[in-house]
Amino acid sequence: MSGRLKTVLLFGAPGVGKGTQGKLLGAVPGFCHSASGDVFRQVNKHSELGKIFFEYSSRGELVPDDVTVRMWHEAIGNRIARNQFDPESDLLLLDGIPRTPAQVDLMEQYIEVLRIIHLTCDDVEEMVGRLRRRALKENRHDDADENVIRHRWEVYEQQTHPVLDHYPGRLITPVNAIGTPAQVLGDILAILAPVQHEHFARFEG
Ligand code: ADP
Repeated sequence: MSGRLKTVLLFGAPGVGKGTQGKLLGAVPGFCHSASGDVFRQVNKHSELGKIFFEYSSRGELVPDDVTVRMWHEAIGNRIARNQFDPESDLLLLDGIPRTPAQVDLMEQYIEVLRIIHLTCDDVEEMVGRLRRRALKENRHDDADENVIRHRWEVYEQQTHPVLDHYPGRLITPVNAIGTPAQVLGDILAILAPVQHEHFARFEG
């Protein structure tokens, strides 16, 4: 990789819809969606790393920072090698990473954050309900137990929310996560279309 990857962060608590929006946005030409949770879920369950992931995620805890960033870096390198992501022209949409201030520091060498979409929702019960429905559909071991879901929220408040303090406030745009996926997508695109336009203007210029 030459130079830092031009990046947009999809940020917010568990269940707020980062994955749903990330997948939709990743289908828009010029955006590449990369979710750290997906990277971990693709690892062989019986490998050393697979066991580490299962151990932490089934408790609702975060995987250690160094392992996480190494894994993500390898996964993104593979996508570049397979031509699924053009680091020159595409904007990278990161979902689930960086998830701690230490990850912000570790990733600083790889990414240049152009914007942070902060999906917000004050209604914890709505989010817990979404996660429980998803657990049934997607067979997610970390969302099957309500206590684990609630712990994931505490971990978010204590370890992940402080990530926002490490970026300039002008980069952070809040988006209301309550609404249909189409409504939320519309709000996010209204923010990101100009970011992409400016990126293209610089890339082509
Ligand atoms: P959600 O989208 O529901 O918040 P994810 O799919 O992003 O959940 O992550 C599932 C689990 O994977 C997390 O609970 C955590 O154990 C692990 N994980 C994912 N991303 C990270 C990360 N950046 N740092 C540490 N652990 C992570």
